[in-house]
Amino acid sequence: MQLSPKDAWKRILDEARRELTEQAVGTWLSPAEPLSFDGAHLVLGLPDEFAVKWNEAKHSAILAKIAEVVLGQSVAVSFRVPDDRLQRPQIDFFVAPPPEPISAPIRTTQSPLPLNERYTFDSFVIGKSNELAAAAAYAVAEAPGRTYNPLFIYGGTGLGKTHLMQAIAHAVVRKNPSTRVTYVGAEHFINEVIEGIHGRTMPDLRRRYRSEIDLFLVDDVHFLEGKEATQEEFFHTFNTLYESQKQIVLTSDRAPKEMPGLEDRLVSRFGWGMVADVGMPDLEHRIAILRKKQEQDHLETTIPDDVLTFIAEHVYSNVRELEGSIIKLLLYASLRHREISVDLAREALADRIRPSQATADDRPKALPSIDKVQDVVARRWGVTPEGLRSKARIKSLTVPRQIAMYLAREVLNMQLVEIGQAFGGRDHSTVIHSVDKVQRQLARDRGFRDRVDSARVELTSSAV
Ligand code: ADP
Ligand code: MG
Repeated sequence: MQLSPKDAWKRILDEARRELTEQAVGTWLSPAEPLSFDGAHLVLGLPDEFAVKWNEAKHSAILAKIAEVVLGQSVAVSFRVPDDRLQRPQIDFFVAPPPEPISAPIRTTQSPLPLNERYTFDSFVIGKSNELAAAAAYAVAEAPGRTYNPLFIYGGTGLGKTHLMQAIAHAVVRKNPSTRVTYVGAEHFINEVIEGIHGRTMPDLRRRYRSEIDLFLVDDVHFLEGKEATQEEFFHTFNTLYESQKQIVLTSDRAPKEMPGLEDRLVSRFGWGMVADVGMPDLEHRIAILRKKQEQDHLETTIPDDVLTFIAEHVYSNVRELEGSIIKLLLYASLRHREISVDLAREALADRIRPSQATADDRPKALPSIDKVQDVVARRWGVTPEGLRSKARIKSLTVPRQIAMYLAREVLNMQLVEIGQAFGGRDHSTVIHSVDKVQRQLARDRGFRDRVDSARVELTSSAV
């Protein structure tokens, strides 16, 4: 007896839940509606063309395998947008290049900060490290306020959070030019609230943030940590916009749950929609990003391919640094009137590339090991090296651990991922956060700086 489309899909989906992540199933497969099944071919309906492409690329093959197991015969699984849905506007960014370049400046109405024209979907290169965040951003841009609200994007510095967030705004405004977009950094919002309280202009601030916005982009919400008055204000702004189905997009350097200085009610709201991270791009992805920049800035003839690959191999901390390397190289070459080559790149970027990856003869004296860094920091901060490598989150360990991570990065030039591994298998974004935190404190705390410096001196002078 032939199964109905619904029953066939149910069996496959039940098994898919075991094979795929909850997020993949929830986001991409649960919304599918079985349209037809003839024993050999199951057709599933999806709300938009983007979801169709995504599922075809990511899930068709695995679903066919699952179908073979649970239905006992080989079944092709395909996706399409049902005819009645096709009447609705479709997302076209992924499928076709955007129809016309952005000509008029983006209307951001009263947005406190302008959008960067370059931060579009078109210039954003998708890879493994950001595909979920990018997919969610596309989905949000297609149906603001209706798919994932809020969209929360988190990850280390320079990994494309602001770019992706602004790309949503560009896409939404392109489709619907009357959309009122407000893009604001959390720090700016904090200052406005402080001014509002002192200058008694809160009613004005509330009006601007609660009733004049269709798309609300708040960058770097981790700055809200510990700012109680601002969190209170933000909470009400969030609720008002959310209740009137306005789209909210947030970025942070950490996941909502990892922000202890944030009120629980905000943490929980931040997780209501979609939480997606952006990570470090792998080599292939870095090459693709550099190629995109090369193409955008018409540098194909100026920067040869082997130089691009060289940069991608050696600069891996984040995308901003990759871009910075190109600029630095261009400047270096132009000041010296030299052609760009791998040798020149090695020279120009000497401060950014790992010594162990430079050529043997210009390698400086041997570096201490990560164990040595952990030993020195542990001894100087009165903890054990095992403690530094453990998962324990007590304050007496967190600070020296962050310092040791910072020194591993600075003195050993280790990759973030390697550092994470050496410290109990932590995520690279945790390492970025630690290094950032130490850098910030070094900049403002003299005693701290002296203490870290003397650890650094011990490490570099005792290197064997
Ligand atoms: P973040 O907000 O995460 O610190 P940004 O969005 O400011 O990072 O990105 C830093 C720089 O790197 C920007 O110039 C941005 O255009 C670029 N960038 C980041 N990720 C990508 C990507 N996937 N494709 C193209 N450019 C990227
Ligand atoms: Mg940013």
